[in-house]
Amino acid sequence: MPCTQISADWAAQRIKGLSLSKAIWNALGPRKRHSLQTVKTLIDRFQYPRFGPGMMWEKTRDDLQKQGALLQMGEEVITIHRTSTRVTSIITRNRSGETHQYKGDSFVASMPLRDCVLAFDPPLSPAACEAALRLQYRDFLTVALIIGRTGLFPDNWIYVHDPSVRLGRIQNFNNWSPDLVPDRAASCLGLEYFCFAGDGLWTMMDEALIELGKGELEKLGLIRAEEVIDGCVVRMEKAYPVYSSGYQEDVNIIRQELSRLENFQVIGRNGMHKYNNQDHSMMTALLAARNLNGEKYDLWKVNTDAEYHEEGEDDSVNSGRLAPQKTEHRFKTQI
Ligand SMILES: Cc1cc2nc3c(=O)[nH]c(=O)nc-3n(C[C@H](O)[C@H](O)[C@H](O)COP(=O)(O)OP(=O)(O)OC[C@H]3O[C@@H](n4cnc5c(N)ncnc54)[C@H](O)[C@@H]3O)c2cc1C
Repeated sequence: MPCTQISADWAAQRIKGLSLSKAIWNALGPRKRHSLQTVKTLIDRFQYPRFGPGMMWEKTRDDLQKQGALLQMGEEVITIHRTSTRVTSIITRNRSGETHQYKGDSFVASMPLRDCVLAFDPPLSPAACEAALRLQYRDFLTVALIIGRTGLFPDNWIYVHDPSVRLGRIQNFNNWSPDLVPDRAASCLGLEYFCFAGDGLWTMMDEALIELGKGELEKLGLIRAEEVIDGCVVRMEKAYPVYSSGYQEDVNIIRQELSRLENFQVIGRNGMHKYNNQDHSMMTALLAARNLNGEKYDLWKVNTDAEYHEEGEDDSVNSGRLAPQKTEHRFKTQI
């Protein structure tokens, strides 16, 4: 998406504390400058689970089940029943199309905010439903290519700003964790394409995407196309909440409306329509759990560093940053 269609909030969240001079100093200056340690974007060492972050949730699932918790996986919430002040039950649908009703005292939702608002029965106010319909999401696909050698480049990922290719980022999974690539003599690169479900990239055949990826890696000078020995494509809808024109106002309308429901909380990235990392998403969930025990945290006050601030900046409202205005070409652009 062109920068003219994305709020400056997007960049501000991700490159906080970074300036052009710091970036140049980091690239050209001596390594390990302590003054740069606090700039998150420039951190070059971190801990990572051997088989990826899913391990944390597999362990959490196992621990919960050991304690007797009922986890109902693979069911989609399609309806949220409510009174004027409380959520009373949800209806889910499983992969076979069967529906189930679950009653409860408290509800915490991490499903995309748009889907959540539109799932209410009786519906929320027309203003909230219209605001929800204006929320936009960016979809995403990864072309994973297996290359028959290692040591391709030292980074775990590279952001690519070259307009002559369509990929936006390249993951080098070996450098996240060697255990992510079972064949120690091979590399797996994940070529990331940001798109909208249904657009030209999204609907391209997997074989064509793999060929596109091979060609683009060769064009960038990273590998020769014939070095690729295998590949596959993974598509993921709603990978990013879009910070488009007026998104803050729309989130605020919804937020006010949901605050009237005393036993309902929204958490997480799409759940709060915030460009959160995992730590931030987890922090909102942790505080939501504490609220169930009688605490009174306002989850919207968890900032982008996953810190809770009772006073001071509330990331979600009136950030004062410019949001782009609607244009005719809104959301039609493809990378
Ligand atoms: C390409 C990419 C790279 C990323 N890299 C990093 C990184 O390096 N570090 C980092 O910290 N974060 C990263 N993130 C962000 C991180 O993935 C998110 O912040 C985190 O997963 C958000 O957690 P969540 O629980 O809010 O949402 P999710 O992990 O998306 O979980 C929401 C769940 O709700 C389910 N769901 C949706 N609708 C319904 C429904 N109607 N009923 C029932 N279930 C539903 C979904 O299937 C999903 O399982 C990345 C994200 C993307 C897309």
